[in-house]
Amino acid sequence: MSINLESEPTVAPGFSEKAPLERYVEPARPSLVGRSRGQLAAALAELGVPSAHRNMRVQQLWHWLYVRGVTTFEVMTNVSKELRAALENRFTLARPEVVAEQISVDGTRKWLLRLPGENPDKRPHEVECVYIPETGRGTLCVSSQVGCTLNCTFCHTGTQRLVRNLTAGEIVGQIMVARDRLGDWPGERPPEGAIIPTDGGRSVTNIVMMGMGEPLYNFEAVRDALLVVADNEGIAISKRKITVSTSGVVPNIKRTGEEIGVMLAVSLHAVRNDLRNELVPLNRKYPIEMLLEACRNYPGLTNAKRITFEYVMLKGINDSLSDAKALVRLLAGIPAKINLIPFNPWPGARHECADWETIEKFSEVVFNAGYSAPVRTPRGRDILAACGQLKSATEKLSVRERMALRAMAMTE
Ligand code: SAH
Ligand code: SF4
Repeated sequence: MSINLESEPTVAPGFSEKAPLERYVEPARPSLVGRSRGQLAAALAELGVPSAHRNMRVQQLWHWLYVRGVTTFEVMTNVSKELRAALENRFTLARPEVVAEQISVDGTRKWLLRLPGENPDKRPHEVECVYIPETGRGTLCVSSQVGCTLNCTFCHTGTQRLVRNLTAGEIVGQIMVARDRLGDWPGERPPEGAIIPTDGGRSVTNIVMMGMGEPLYNFEAVRDALLVVADNEGIAISKRKITVSTSGVVPNIKRTGEEIGVMLAVSLHAVRNDLRNELVPLNRKYPIEMLLEACRNYPGLTNAKRITFEYVMLKGINDSLSDAKALVRLLAGIPAKINLIPFNPWPGARHECADWETIEKFSEVVFNAGYSAPVRTPRGRDILAACGQLKSATEKLSVRERMALRAMAMTE
């Protein structure tokens, strides 16, 4: 079947999305965190640094910002005193402000970050960033938007009304915050008792754009941020260790491969359009055939660089053995991994998690078809940090909701 991915598709009735309500307004003294080399050069030009010196100065700033992770201009000893003063006067090295840190018994950490609203007199926004340590790696789950314009039925973030796109600086800033809090810069130490990878390497080794928001609806900022993060003279997290997760924004899938070159994860969750239309309403705009065609053509796709298909296990909805069989048929010919995610309940959710026995049978079908089918064990449930539970405190949970959540965590 040949499908034209370039033209705007006709949208089936019933698809609606929230419009972003707020924009980012740059403060008088903006932060340099998240800026590309070109943007740093422009900042230096603005301060009157002659063009002949700019490249060298950019290299120095780049190193202080992204290799050393410094938070003041004062410590940049190889930068002249005058330039340090001029930088200090015009810019900051601020990261998003941490308003709360929660540490789960399994070592998962969640930071609640405050981001400015459009108007100084309006309430600020909050987003969450989650760190998941494992034996050989430490994964940081990063947000791309405050809230999400889409409304997947099983996702807590989607219920949030207010939406603002994060800037590239705010996206890179989340990684800087995590490394600050984990003592993950040269010469620093992790906090006492922290659970981090045990191989003696860095604490943050992998990035997944699986926090709040739909990254491919904030494409440019996500692209610019990830190119800074992957730069091997800076933060240097390899593109193989960065994953962008999308609910299926088809036109930006190709761009993700071409312009960012990172790993792709697709939130599939259903094998039939009628069901996917319900669970992931964006499917009404970009149906399964179109989505899989874009996956087949994902730039750089090989058996060594597979697409991860995420599939949330919902009791009685998408968890039958015939769904499992249809799933493997659907993905035939696409270098793929399948991630079965037990549904993480939240107060007011209309779904339930599939039974463990059902999940095991489902995963057996997938495994027998030649896919590794790890069931992602929910992490950090006691601090509400697992997939789809990220919803900022902008809409606070009631005491009763908190109790219900605790009860759910206890019965696991
Ligand atoms: N918007 C993007 C990325 C953020 S969501 C996307 O949808 O892919 C990250 C992953 O968590 C997605 O696969 C999403 O479908 C899944 N998810 C959302 N809510 C969930 C829940 N309550 N339980 C389990 N997984 C959930
Ligand atoms: Fe948005 Fe992803 Fe949640 Fe759907 S699953 S509402 S796309 S964050």
